[in-house]
Amino acid sequence: MKITVRDIPEEGLEISEAFDPRGMELELRDRVTYQSPLAVKGAATRMDTKVHVWGEARAEVRWWCSRCLEEFNRPFRQKFDLYYFEQSLDSVIDTAASIREEVLLAYPMQSFCRDDCKGLCPRCGLNRNRGKCRCMDTRQNPFGKLKDLL
Ligand SMILES: [Zn+2]
Ligand SMILES: [Zn+2]
Repeated sequence: MKITVRDIPEEGLEISEAFDPRGMELELRDRVTYQSPLAVKGAATRMDTKVHVWGEARAEVRWWCSRCLEEFNRPFRQKFDLYYFEQSLDSVIDTAASIREEVLLAYPMQSFCRDDCKGLCPRCGLNRNRGKCRCMDTRQNPFGKLKDLL
């Protein structure tokens, strides 16, 4: 959003805006897609020409589980604090790029559909949250085959 420094009153300026996640390039292929706009709520205050913008960004987001590769929905929330110092009263602050950066940095390196996600079987690729394959049985009993031979 664009804010002219002069327009920020002494008591502060309430900000509320919905960003288009695609236009803002917030989605990551096979990792993060948006189910809603990025809703930003907060406020801007200033001391003379020093401006502080803060608030929270929220969205309904679909993630891909790093372990089992299934998609799941989980709300995203990130607080932000932005400071602008080198301004004049006529400066126009555009917060979009900084908010985008804060949001991208807040994405987890890995996301899990649930804490105890069992992931995929490395041998047969079965989603272990959905059922059991036989691969684990032979691993748990490495002497099974040997015993058959004796
Ligand atoms: Zn998972
Ligand atoms: Zn398996």
